[in-house]
Amino acid sequence: MSRASALLSLQQIDDRIATLTSDIASVEASLRGDPELDRLRAAEAAAHEAHRTLGAGAKLAELEAASLQARIRDLDRRLYGGTVRNPADLMEMQRELEAMRAKLSTAEDDALERMEQVDLSLANLQGASASVAARESQRSNSMDPLRARLASLTAERDVLNAERDAVRADADPADLSLYARIAAHRRPAVTGLAGEFCAGCHMPVSNEERRAVRTGTGLTQCANCDRILAP
Ligand SMILES: [Zn+2]
Repeated sequence: MSRASALLSLQQIDDRIATLTSDIASVEASLRGDPELDRLRAAEAAAHEAHRTLGAGAKLAELEAASLQARIRDLDRRLYGGTVRNPADLMEMQRELEAMRAKLSTAEDDALERMEQVDLSLANLQGASASVAARESQRSNSMDPLRARLASLTAERDVLNAERDAVRADADPADLSLYARIAAHRRPAVTGLAGEFCAGCHMPVSNEERRAVRTGTGLTQCANCDRILAP
């Protein structure tokens, strides 16, 4: 293998290792936690709180209506019970009764509307709980495949690390540091020829340089982009 070809295969191994490392990180993150499940659980907690608050409000509205009903019954009894005889007093009580009945009607409408909101919030809560349950079950089903995938990715990376070590052990340390220096600012650091051009930057490569790349005894770099040219 020529020195440039060795660096090219080192680059392919490095790229594959980088991809595997990122895949491994994402599988590990999925195994650790599930942001979507966290979001659904938070939504369920919020739906629960909304249902509780609306329920408390509806209860109060019902108590308010019940208390008005009791006062109306009481007033009604006194008005028609015969104990109050004074016409002015009776008229005053009559007016009070009418005002209270109007208030009761409003309070009953309010209580009814609140009960409807409680029903809606209950349906919403049940929907949110079902979403959490579905996600939990989906997640528990996906844990084993995720663990298996993590094991296979890690095994593949171990193999590639060994290959990488072997390629590096055979390579000239000066070539390795040149590769590292170029790879730090140019990706890929090693590229082929596209006809008479550098495949990395598409600028022409001289006849002499192309010959040097093909014979492959030393390393040839693109005069324009600095990349190492591989046959
Ligand atoms: Zn170039």
